[in-house]
Amino acid sequence: MYDDITELFLTNFHKVARIGATAAGGVHRQAATVEDQQTRDWFANFAAERKWPVQVDQIGNMFATVQLTDAPDARSILVGSHLDSQPFGGRFDGAYGVVAALHAAQAVQRAVAEDNLIATHNLVVVNWFNEEGGRFAPSLMGSAVYAGNMDLGTMLAVQDSDGTTVAHALDAIGYRSKHDGPKDIAGYAEIHIEQGRILEREGLQFGVVESSWYTQKLAIEVLGEQSHTGATAMADRRDALVGASHVVLEFQQICEQFADEALVSSVGQVSVEPNSPIVVNS
Ligand SMILES: [Zn+2]
Repeated sequence: MYDDITELFLTNFHKVARIGATAAGGVHRQAATVEDQQTRDWFANFAAERKWPVQVDQIGNMFATVQLTDAPDARSILVGSHLDSQPFGGRFDGAYGVVAALHAAQAVQRAVAEDNLIATHNLVVVNWFNEEGGRFAPSLMGSAVYAGNMDLGTMLAVQDSDGTTVAHALDAIGYRSKHDGPKDIAGYAEIHIEQGRILEREGLQFGVVESSWYTQKLAIEVLGEQSHTGATAMADRRDALVGASHVVLEFQQICEQFADEALVSSVGQVSVEPNSPIVVNS
């Protein structure tokens, strides 16, 4: 059924994967960058070509509404994922879910028009802002503000490493509004590439998520004392980087105390001061 939509999906998926493409076959498309803007424009055009109205909310989420029923009290099913990527990330993460949702919505709309389906709900395809958090921490920012789990004002004031705020970055790419997104949502579905190893190990193509992980992100400050790498005796050194190295290894060892695959942990970001080849770090 609808081979033409499958073909269109593949064409469009490859088109989106070229935006911010990296030499390694992935994409570099961090939140509210020019590359993110280009994928957003592609999303908006896809919707406009089908006369689906697009809304952008106050935290930069995009919603394309596919009206399937005239029932005045019909609620919507939200489907989608995110078009932003990790720094030098994979091309399937997030983008697959958004592009697939758009094409699935088109297939459902056609089935309803051809009387093959009777719709009780409308569809809304969503592209969440800053799901990854690589440029602006924390991750899941757009979806969490939408769900009421993070404060809009606090998140708009978050800065990237250059001091650019979320509000400013969204304004710069033209994807921030004064409005809320659609409210009357009956359910949410997201198609996503598996980032673990279960499907491959079990030889399965698809799976349904039964649970997800609980995350805790910690900022740890290890304080030492700056001194000269040549002139300072070993006994006198208070080397912050040595201390931090113990912390890094400790996080590995903690995981070994739990059942296999029950706990994972990494130190993902380190900033060292003053980070000079001839200075004991402080
Ligand atoms: Zn993702």
